[in-house]
Amino acid sequence: MAYFPEFWFTEKYTGTCGFTFKIKRVLSTEQSPLQRLDILETYDFGRVMLLDGLVMFTERDEFVYHEMIAHLPLFAASDPKDVLIIGGGDGGTAREVSKHIYLNSITNVEIDEVVVKNSKKYTPFVGCGFDNEKVNLIIGDGIEFVKDKKGLYNVVIIDSTDPFGPAEGLFNSEFYGNVRDALRDGGIVVAQAENTYYDKRWMMRSVNNMKKAFGKNNVAIYQAAIPTYPSGTWVFAIGWKSGEHPRDRFDEERFNKLNLKLKYYNPEIHKAAFALPSYVEEILKG
Ligand code: SAM
Repeated sequence: MAYFPEFWFTEKYTGTCGFTFKIKRVLSTEQSPLQRLDILETYDFGRVMLLDGLVMFTERDEFVYHEMIAHLPLFAASDPKDVLIIGGGDGGTAREVSKHIYLNSITNVEIDEVVVKNSKKYTPFVGCGFDNEKVNLIIGDGIEFVKDKKGLYNVVIIDSTDPFGPAEGLFNSEFYGNVRDALRDGGIVVAQAENTYYDKRWMMRSVNNMKKAFGKNNVAIYQAAIPTYPSGTWVFAIGWKSGEHPRDRFDEERFNKLNLKLKYYNPEIHKAAFALPSYVEEILKG
């Protein structure tokens, strides 16, 4: 009887638990000066990008993360024209932002060109985000990039890796202060902010540091269900320079005009994503 070995990949969430995929094959492995990238072909989740052994996205559920990090702030912002994405080298966020066809400019600052190159080649369903002519891709450090930008953007989206290595500074108050200054009046920032089970200190670091920059009444979190991220429920921190809470701002006319075919985000989710379980409210109280 022939013996066919099976290959499995586990992302370790702690020393004792994690998430496991059975994989068909490894499509690409590359070490950049900053991180190791792998693209896997899996049975249940399609193609998967890993950075340093952590799942960045899977073909099957990436729509949740990318729709929620892009459309919620864009439909909350008033008449947005210019958007800055920091990180997001896979192109998924640029793909969703590009659906807002009335924007004048979309600037995407990603530190590692190896991520962009592999995404375009192996995961074009997200890599296509860089095809739109309005997307200006800059290979560089987002922390440095925002330092001298004043009042240029309506929305800043921080689509980063976890808070260590090159992304560590994307979670501190000095960076959020520079982002606040880079925003126009009424501008909105959104940052991926980890989860409430395994990394709640990381989430709180993001929330507290954003509050130092935007004020304690101008920062909130919202959540989305993402099966292949640790805990399955992901947190986004959102800060606004002035005006109403983004939960209560939704441009229905623009939403109807654009008539986007989305799979997760909709007007009800826009509001409901801000409803938090009691245990999360407790964590936020510190
Ligand atoms: N959705 C993802 C997640 O949380 O799993 C994030 C994916 S995206 C690939 C994150 C990107 O942030 C990576 O490509 C990484 O190279 C980039 N990045 C990390 N630090 C950065 C920095 N300081 N400036 C710009 N990009 C950065």
